[in-house]
Amino acid sequence: METELRQLRDEALAALEKIGSSAELEPFRVKYLGRKGGLIAGLMRQLGQVPREDRPRLGQLANTIKKEVQERFEEKKEALLAAPAAAEAGVDRSLPGRYLPFGRLHPVTQVMEEICAIFEGMGFAVAEGPDVETDHYNFEALNIPRHHPARDMHDTFYVTDSILLRTHTSPMQARIMETQEPPLRYIAPGKVYRCDSDITHTPMFHQVEGFLVDRIVSFADLKGVLTSFIHRMFSDDLAVRFRPSFFPFTEPSAEVDIACVICGGAGCRVCKRTGWLEILGAGLIDPAVLTMVGYDPDRYSGFAFGLGVERIAMLKYGIDDIRLYYENDLRFLSQF
Ligand SMILES: [Zn+2]
Repeated sequence: METELRQLRDEALAALEKIGSSAELEPFRVKYLGRKGGLIAGLMRQLGQVPREDRPRLGQLANTIKKEVQERFEEKKEALLAAPAAAEAGVDRSLPGRYLPFGRLHPVTQVMEEICAIFEGMGFAVAEGPDVETDHYNFEALNIPRHHPARDMHDTFYVTDSILLRTHTSPMQARIMETQEPPLRYIAPGKVYRCDSDITHTPMFHQVEGFLVDRIVSFADLKGVLTSFIHRMFSDDLAVRFRPSFFPFTEPSAEVDIACVICGGAGCRVCKRTGWLEILGAGLIDPAVLTMVGYDPDRYSGFAFGLGVERIAMLKYGIDDIRLYYENDLRFLSQF
């Protein structure tokens, strides 16, 4: 009995020591000091069963223990109730709050939105298509049949023989022309995929494809629209040149260069000493492409162009490594 009493005392004081909040006080009081169900009261009731000669000594011990636990409990209670007031005294309510950092749009998204806004200002509508395309829309409908050498330029990710990750956003051209009649003026922004990775290429990048189909569309219209876009995107006096090129779905085709934005045309490492930077590809839509979607090429003509969003963003902000856009380093991204 004596051992049990002393054990209970040690247990109660240890439990009291661990209490860290005023919410834990009442459960402790009920468990150890409760008049009816408390453990100390329980042991005191058993005193009636111990031998008569031991009763006074054990009774006294039990009372001392009960008193000790009771006192320690009161001390703890006072300390806990005083604590919040002390903590509050240390708070300076005039200090400003802590701000969470703001998120912002990724530079590639910002440039893509800017490109879309400029073309929308010229009357182009925005259309988005699937990232996973069929070989038909990605190649065949754009005058690139199987075994055409132009397919080598695309480094395609194939899902199956006839399904692939689109290598450009041009498939939207065929998809829209199939279902609508001219006049058409669309841009198709989105992600494209090529099996390629170095300081100027990533396996996934962003492209904006645009096209216009109407009666009597000429190369002069194409030049006017693209020059106007470049001037709004960069600056009004930036030199622009059209250089003959080849794309299977346009004829004639051109690559468009701007005067190097790094050296101003004098020649530097970025422009490979030429003073010019290529920024997009364009051309008049090949009559074969118009025929494939059921248009009469004698009645309608059009132009198409495609540009890489990362490329434009790199030139606009003077960044020489495309991978910086995808490393998710906030020190880099938060500068835009
Ligand atoms: Zn240069």
